[in-house]
Amino acid sequence: MPRPSKRISGIVPSGKDGWEVHTEAWARKEAGQDIIMLSVGDHDFDTPSQTIEACVTAVRGSNHHYTPLPGVPRLRRAMAAASTACTGIETSPNQVIATPGGQAALYAAVQAVLDQGDHAIVVAPYYATYPNTFSAAGASFTVVETPAEDGFQPRADRIRAALKPNTRAILINTPNNPTGAVYSRERLEELADICKEHDLWLLSDEVYWTLGGGEHVSPRGLPGMAERTLVINSMSKSHGMTGWRMGWLTGPAQMITLLTNLNLVTTYGLPAFISIACAEALENRYGVKEIAERYAARRTVLLDAVRGMNNVTVHGSEGGMYVMLDISAVEPDDEKFAWALLDAEKVGVMPGSSFGHAAAGHIRISLCQPEPVLQEAAKRLRRFASSYR
Ligand code: PLP
Repeated sequence: MPRPSKRISGIVPSGKDGWEVHTEAWARKEAGQDIIMLSVGDHDFDTPSQTIEACVTAVRGSNHHYTPLPGVPRLRRAMAAASTACTGIETSPNQVIATPGGQAALYAAVQAVLDQGDHAIVVAPYYATYPNTFSAAGASFTVVETPAEDGFQPRADRIRAALKPNTRAILINTPNNPTGAVYSRERLEELADICKEHDLWLLSDEVYWTLGGGEHVSPRGLPGMAERTLVINSMSKSHGMTGWRMGWLTGPAQMITLLTNLNLVTTYGLPAFISIACAEALENRYGVKEIAERYAARRTVLLDAVRGMNNVTVHGSEGGMYVMLDISAVEPDDEKFAWALLDAEKVGVMPGSSFGHAAAGHIRISLCQPEPVLQEAAKRLRRFASSYR
């Protein structure tokens, strides 16, 4: 074949080492071993039945045609209302655009604010697709680590030190994957000051905003930030709809018009019946409270069990779908720890170092298992950590 573009060849799956543990754990589970998978980031339950019914009704109706590029009006109204709740400032439908999932929203946001050769700052630990999302735009980025001992909160001094003349954007994620950190208002205000001082965009990935435990603080709601913030949102986590592929971006109306032009050459609109089902799910908050309560209960079960262990420490882990455990007192090499835990106790976790330097010496545990399974996993982890040589 003729040579592919450098851009597409530059997109290479990341986190390879960590995923090797995950892939092996799956293979052993498939082969019949009693493996507890705590490495996956997808719900163990189905989409709420009301949302499924809404989709069936929509597909039986006449929702089979092309849809408007930024999303069907009812969906945009529902997304705008959700953004008002998420970001704390009144949002109108012309300030939101539907995308096929949060990842596509991230891709669109990066394409919209960075040119080839521009630079961005990415606060780490971060979601595994971020580096490739920048590569796909031909942009470079600097990773700014957040110290574990500081609860993985962003640090303004470190971000300032990473700024370059061609820096155009900062990307953050709160509640965070993989750390479960929920960024404090104070730290977000410091970040907002940097963006305003240096005329930067803030790309704020808030796909876990309903799973944060307490009050959700969106940087878009801070003074002077609405005009320079693009918020990434998704139905996947909050509404139990990972496979439906629906997300959205919230930002200045002028930027949303430009993004609509991007949709012209990418999605050309989203499926009509999915859009209607998502609108109904957003309007009625189908499953949102139940899903948030389920993850909160699971987090409590796991953290209570872990807090009784004298050689394992919790950092971050306040929201989202994951907890981050510092296992360095048991074994400083987190990858070695993850492999040994899989071999000895049949528990599959992600080594922290696959999410960057700051998460080294940690393991990421997914809460996508029922409480009794998490209890059993904690029992196995305790046995492993207390007898490890
Ligand atoms: N952002 C973060 C932080 C995530 O963890 C994920 C998925 O796990 C996404 C974005 C993308 O989610 P989706 O494309 O399913 O909306």
